[in-house]
Amino acid sequence: MRIRVLGGDGGESLHSRMTCLLVNETVALDAGSLTQGLSIQEQRQVRSIVLTHSHMDHTNSLPFFIENVFGQTNRPVEIHASAATIYAIRKYLFNNEVWPDFSRLPNHLLPSVRFEELATEVTKVIEGVRFTPIAVDHVVPTFGFLIEQGDSAVLWSSDTGPTQRFWEVANETPHLKAVFIETSFDNSMQRVADISKHLTPQTLASELAKLERQVPIYLHHLKPPYVEQIRQEVASLGRPEVGFVEQGRTYEFG
Ligand SMILES: [Zn+2]
Ligand SMILES: [Zn+2]
Repeated sequence: MRIRVLGGDGGESLHSRMTCLLVNETVALDAGSLTQGLSIQEQRQVRSIVLTHSHMDHTNSLPFFIENVFGQTNRPVEIHASAATIYAIRKYLFNNEVWPDFSRLPNHLLPSVRFEELATEVTKVIEGVRFTPIAVDHVVPTFGFLIEQGDSAVLWSSDTGPTQRFWEVANETPHLKAVFIETSFDNSMQRVADISKHLTPQTLASELAKLERQVPIYLHHLKPPYVEQIRQEVASLGRPEVGFVEQGRTYEFG
């Protein structure tokens, strides 16, 4: 299983907050920078998009992506997400005011987009990869995902504050190879992080205490103004297994 992290937040920061991963070239996990991070040719290979939640930094390239691949493929692009996320996307993005409703274009019998509902902890095989949604704790309904192919599994959480089930799943997965989790703010912003349900290095440390496995931890979703401070505070945790996701890098798990 290959996971490529797409960039797209100005280039200077290695740690874009625009979340977008490419799993094996054909599935995107979140769509924060699909069109910025991929050529048109690469975008046409993406058949399915899995969304963690409805926030802009995870969905903003969706309208342009659909436009770029419109009419280029003989089957609709599938957007897999929770009922709450699909509702928000349809109501606020593909609502014929902000952007056309591509689930009815060119017509409802042959749409360009098909929405597929995901349910908590019900595994779905998407382009040969198993995605199991795990409920995490954010200000809108949000999924983390257990992503599995063959003998390897990784856990990905996008936005979340302190959470429980995610770590239970980590501890129940013997073939777990890595955990990806957010750290949005530095410790001085703890109150803002708590209100907006994100993590700081100190709450990350309490989260990691719930993990009973020794696997690499990759941090992502660093808000650009706090990157340097977050890096220093994470370094002072003294945990060598904790690193930072690098934009543009492909992670291989086999
Ligand atoms: Zn969010
Ligand atoms: Zn976010």
